[in-house]
Amino acid sequence: MNNSTKVKEIRIRRLLVTAKSLFPNAGCELDFKNVYELSVAVILSAQTTDPSVNKVTPEVFKAYPDPDHLAQAELVSLENMIKTIGLYHTKAKHLIEFAKEVVKNFDGEIPHDFDQLQTLPGVGRKTANVIVSVGFNQPGLAVDTHVLRVSQRFGIVSNDADPLLVEKTLKNALDESEWGDAHHALLFFGRYHCTARKPKCESCPLNQECRYKKMNP
Ligand code: SF4
Repeated sequence: MNNSTKVKEIRIRRLLVTAKSLFPNAGCELDFKNVYELSVAVILSAQTTDPSVNKVTPEVFKAYPDPDHLAQAELVSLENMIKTIGLYHTKAKHLIEFAKEVVKNFDGEIPHDFDQLQTLPGVGRKTANVIVSVGFNQPGLAVDTHVLRVSQRFGIVSNDADPLLVEKTLKNALDESEWGDAHHALLFFGRYHCTARKPKCESCPLNQECRYKKMNP
């Protein structure tokens, strides 16, 4: 391991320990009872808040309790159920196509495999990482807008790094067994502390060593 990799690892550990100390109970805030419901909720959660997803999913899960039912959903009916959240038209289309593919290619069962998950409509790397990690308790580290922002600000990656680079950097530095908890701790840290508009820098335990804070004193 070269010196810069080691320094990076130490910084990642420092960030993670701080995030975990501030948010020891960080976890998934989407409501679900099984992997199918989790998958639907995560697909719906793109560019919208978890509470707004949790408001619409009870009706969706009741009307479409499994992929078979969702695959036969009327687009307009599903749209009406989720129209309070962003991008509802695209999400409704994706959900029905997602369910059709699950029924056709996977016997109606959500696949465990990360690469197979990504073949499904509406499922990108972030969603697949959440499904394997939260749904199947397998190694996965999703990089959403909060994890990306925190990693850039603290200086783990450059300011223009993309989510894939952040995912690889964090995964390389951490043991597989830590990936799921790291995702939730960093997500909570970004969602509730190092927020997009008003990061709590004055009270932040990392403010003496944070690149963003140095550049925005
Ligand atoms: S000092 Fe500010 S920008 Fe840096 S990690 Fe803490 S809250 Fe975020």
